Amino acid sequence: MKKTYNLGIVGYGGMGKWHHLNMDRIDRVNPVAVCDIAKSARDRAESYGLKTYDNINKILKDDSIDILVIATPNHFHCPYAIKAMQAGKHVITEKPITTSSANLQKMIDASVLYDRKLSVHQNRRWDKDYLTIKKIVDDKMIGDVFTVSSRVMGSRGIPGDWRAKKAFGGGMMLDWGVHLIDQALHMFDSPVREVYVRMQHVHYSEVDDGFSLVLTFENGVVYTIDVFTSCYINLPRWHVCGYEGTAVINDWSCDGKIVNIQKGKENEDATPIEAGAGLTKTMAPRTDKSTVEHSLPHIECDEWVEYYGNYVNAIEGKEDLLVKPEQAMRVMRVMEAAFKSEKQNRSVKVNI
Ligand code: NAD
Repeated sequence: MKKTYNLGIVGYGGMGKWHHLNMDRIDRVNPVAVCDIAKSARDRAESYGLKTYDNINKILKDDSIDILVIATPNHFHCPYAIKAMQAGKHVITEKPITTSSANLQKMIDASVLYDRKLSVHQNRRWDKDYLTIKKIVDDKMIGDVFTVSSRVMGSRGIPGDWRAKKAFGGGMMLDWGVHLIDQALHMFDSPVREVYVRMQHVHYSEVDDGFSLVLTFENGVVYTIDVFTSCYINLPRWHVCGYEGTAVINDWSCDGKIVNIQKGKENEDATPIEAGAGLTKTMAPRTDKSTVEHSLPHIECDEWVEYYGNYVNAIEGKEDLLVKPEQAMRVMRVMEAAFKSEKQNRSVKVNI
């Protein structure tokens, strides 16, 4: 009979609860307990029949728990993960895995020392929009890609809680940057060679409330990531250019299209147009004489459950982890290079 793993959740706020309520989609993982310092959160968990604890040390003594998900504010991820692995628990942290590469190294060392599985919940590798773009890139549907723009844009600023505090690991680089950088590093099998960022401080000086980041990969791809929180008109979620076409995805509903150039017909509609106060041939829009439009490829998007399925199989030695601590280390090093770029107002050469 296959073992069922009991899950404890530390931090039962928005995301802790999300893990709990999505567990009915996961085979072999059974949520049993919650630890939260807030009574209101513990009351909520108890209303679902979960055991509760008000302190990390108490939940770590619960021998029925096999896996601990740490969904607290970011600065607790490292110390709690290390304590939990020392106490014999396997650990999934919410993203970011921690707030520095030095902390992450300590976590990796602890996972080796105590022989526990450590992973980070990079759930946005299973986003349908991301998987669609990855398929377009992998299948060369627009030829070899030379530039990617990946954006998330909101208008509500940073929630005025711990996310606005540096000591808690706040700021949008650690919040959304970590997702979008993880996607970028997972899209191309190539080292990052240069990092340049400009951070925004529209409402907060202590942490970034948005940024524009440019990564240059060794394979030549220039990958721009924009995270805005004070923007009322959004640009497309994805805009990707290849040598044989362009792909656009406008939003998370995956509205978008691919336009390919028709080989041999490149010059068929190249007439100059009146544009603004001048004339242009370079920027003249193409017609269907030289281009052809395609729908986006179909993607099954319900595969997020694969994250937990793989984690359990990795505990049992049957699979390698899909989201490995070493991958999180690359993401962390890119974020650290971005903070260096911001501080020194220059691009930073790296080999990540
Ligand atoms: P939140 O503020 O809604 O919840 C945090 C919870 O942790 C609160 O209930 C709080 O009382 C509790 N808490 C604080 N300090 C604690 C401590 N010392 N011990 C135990 N509990 C403690 O925050 P959130 O939005 O749920 O974010 C939590 C984590 O999840 C963060 O790391 C965040 O980056 C991550 N997150 C991930 C995603 C995703 O899609 N993967 C989405 C949102 C948040």
